[in-house]
Amino acid sequence: MDSDTFRAHAHAFVDWMADYLAGIEQRPVRAQVRPGDVLRLLPAEPPAKGEPMEEIFAAFERDILPGVTHWQHPRFFAYFPANASPPSVLAEMLTAVLGVNCMAWETSPAGTELETRVLEWLRQMLGLPEGFEGVIQDSASSATLVAQLAACERAPDGAAAVRGLAGHRAHTVYASAETHSSIDKGMMVAGLGRENLRKIPTDSSFALRPEALADMIRQDREAGLIPTCVVATLGTTAVGGIDPLADIAAITRREGLYLHVDAAWAGSALVCEEFRHMLAGVDDVDSLVFNPHKWLLTNFDCSAQFFRDMGEVERALTVSPAYLRTATGDQIVDYRNRSVPLGRRFRALKLWFVIRHYGVAGLQAHVRRHIGLARDLETQIRNTPGFTLAAPRSLSLVTFRYCPEGLDDEAQLDQVNRDLLARVNEGGLAYLSPCEVRGRVALRLAIGAPATEARHVAEAWDHIARTASRCAPPASAGDVSAP
Ligand SMILES: *Cc1c(COP(=O)(O)O)cnc(C)c1O
Repeated sequence: MDSDTFRAHAHAFVDWMADYLAGIEQRPVRAQVRPGDVLRLLPAEPPAKGEPMEEIFAAFERDILPGVTHWQHPRFFAYFPANASPPSVLAEMLTAVLGVNCMAWETSPAGTELETRVLEWLRQMLGLPEGFEGVIQDSASSATLVAQLAACERAPDGAAAVRGLAGHRAHTVYASAETHSSIDKGMMVAGLGRENLRKIPTDSSFALRPEALADMIRQDREAGLIPTCVVATLGTTAVGGIDPLADIAAITRREGLYLHVDAAWAGSALVCEEFRHMLAGVDDVDSLVFNPHKWLLTNFDCSAQFFRDMGEVERALTVSPAYLRTATGDQIVDYRNRSVPLGRRFRALKLWFVIRHYGVAGLQAHVRRHIGLARDLETQIRNTPGFTLAAPRSLSLVTFRYCPEGLDDEAQLDQVNRDLLARVNEGGLAYLSPCEVRGRVALRLAIGAPATEARHVAEAWDHIARTASRCAPPASAGDVSAP
C-alpha cells in the first residue's frame, strides 16, 4: 500500500472511529449473535489474492461489527469496564505505526525511558512508597504470576528458576476466599500447584480475616510446608472487598513471606487521596499491580506493576542468550527481564498521552464521578421494593439481588436472579454480569465506562426493575425455569 492510499484510508477510518463513538449509544451493548454466527460468515479458506481495502472494510461493518460487544458503551456495566479514551486511542495509532518491540533499551530507547518515567509518575499519583520501581505488563494475571515467581526466589528451598520446584516440600500461597481466579492460574502456571493455594475466609465486609491467615500459615509450617507468599486484594472482583493490608503486612513481615497486592480494578481509585487508607501497610508490600486499562482511561492492555526490590524478580526472569545481549544491558533497565514474554508493546506511550491529556486532576474527577453515580444507584436500590444490596457498595461497584415479596426459597431466588440477568442482557439495553455472594446468585453493576452519565445508570436501573417484575415468582413451589 503506497503512502497516498494509506493516508486516504486512515482518514476514512478516523472519521468512522469518531462516528462510532458518537453513535455508540444506539447499538445494543452485548452482541446479539448466537455462537457460530460470525464464524459462518467467514470464508473457510484464506483469500488466494489480496483484496481491496473497501471490501475488507465493508465486511468488517457487515460481518464483524454485529458480533462485537461494545465495551465503551455508556450502559456497559459488566465485569469491570475496560476504559478507552480518545487520547489513548490516538496514542495506540502511533504505537501501531511505529511497530516497535520494547524488549530492551536498545530496541527502542524512548520506549524504555518513557516507561520508567510514566511508572514513576503513577507511583507518585497513587501514593506508593518512594523507591518502588515498576514495569508495564499486559495483564494483572501476568503481573501476579511474576510476583508468584519472585516469591519463590525468596522462599527457603526456592531458587525455583534454576532448580525447579519439583521434589521439594510444597510452597504455599495465601489469598482470600474472594480472590481472583488469576491467582489460581498463577499457581498452575508457576508449577506451585493449585492445591497449595490457601483460600482464607473473609469477614462481613468480604475482607480477608488476618487471624485466620496467621492460623493457616502456622498450620502449614507445622505440617512441614513452606509458606511463601500472600496475595492481598484491594477490590475483589465479585463484590469489591478490600483486604486489611496493614494487618496482613504485619503477618508477612513477621513470617518473612512475600506480599503481593492485587489492586487490578480498585488501584485506579488511589489517584484520589480519600481512598489511600486502603494503602496502610504498603511500606511492607513487595509488589502491587493495578490496571490502568480498567479504570484509568487507558486502552486495553496496560497493567502497571510496582516492586520494592527488583532483585528477586530479575533473578526469576533474566535470561541472556548471545542474541539478546546489548552493549547497554548493564547501564540501564531492560524491561524484558521483568516480564514473562520477551516481546513488549510500546504501552507507555498511551499512558503518557492519557496522563498529560487529563492531568492528575482530570483522572481524579473521572474516578470520583463514577463513584458518585454508584452512590446514587445504591440509594435507589435501597428504595426499590423487592431489591436488596448483596454486599456493601465498594467504590463504583454495586451488587444486588432481587428478592420479591413472598418468595423465600433461596434456590428459587437464585433462579429468578439468573433469569433477570439473562433477560436484561439479551435485551441489549444494558449489560451486567453475575456473581456469587456467600453462595447465592447476585447481579453486579460496575460503573466505569468513560461515557456513562447519570441518565445511563437511571435508564439501566429502570429497565432492570421493570424486567424484574416480569420475572415473577412462581405461584407454587417448583422450578421457575419450567414452562
Ligand atoms: C480484572 C482483575 C484481574 C485480572 O486482570 P487481567 O488484567 O485481565 O489479567 C485480577 N484481579 C482482579 C482483582 C481483577 O479485578
